[in-house]
Amino acid sequence: MMKPKIATDWLAACAGCHMSLLDIDEKLIELLQKVELTSSPLTDLKVPPESGVDVGLLTGAVNNDDNLHVARRMRQRSRILVACGDCAVFGGIIRMRNHWPLSEALEAAYRDNPSTVEGLIPGAPEIMRPLPDRSVGEVVKVDVYVPGCPPSPEVIFYVLNELAEGRIPALDESRLNYD
Ligand code: SF4
Repeated sequence: MMKPKIATDWLAACAGCHMSLLDIDEKLIELLQKVELTSSPLTDLKVPPESGVDVGLLTGAVNNDDNLHVARRMRQRSRILVACGDCAVFGGIIRMRNHWPLSEALEAAYRDNPSTVEGLIPGAPEIMRPLPDRSVGEVVKVDVYVPGCPPSPEVIFYVLNELAEGRIPALDESRLNYD
């Protein structure tokens, strides 16, 4: 029997959610016996296959046009899309900058900053363009939400294992307590 395929990618993220995924530790071996990991930020292959995957897992918020492209590509190629972590689920701490116009946020980051010397706001056409911060669910349809900053390795294992077994994970209160 073919193993279910899983792809994962990150958007505007601190990498903590993927570190939590790695913290599944030896149970990763158990998981990888059930699924095929096609691509991830932590492996050589980064992009989900055009032929699609059963489960796509995204971490991070959408705060530039590259994030938007990556989120749409993962949605298009995934049967089930998981938003993993508070950045993906709610927009994360980056969302605080939505209280100001984007131009003011860029000024604060690149000009009015004690560590800045030249004060040049990047604007070359080949680099990503900043956008107001959004959660993954605000730009594409999400099937499973996994909050937490980051979600614990146990919760990430539970979610991926349930999906690997063909079940939609039930994230009740007992799995959503964070110290
Ligand atoms: S939810 Fe937390 S751990 Fe995950 S990417 Fe965002 S800030 Fe990092």
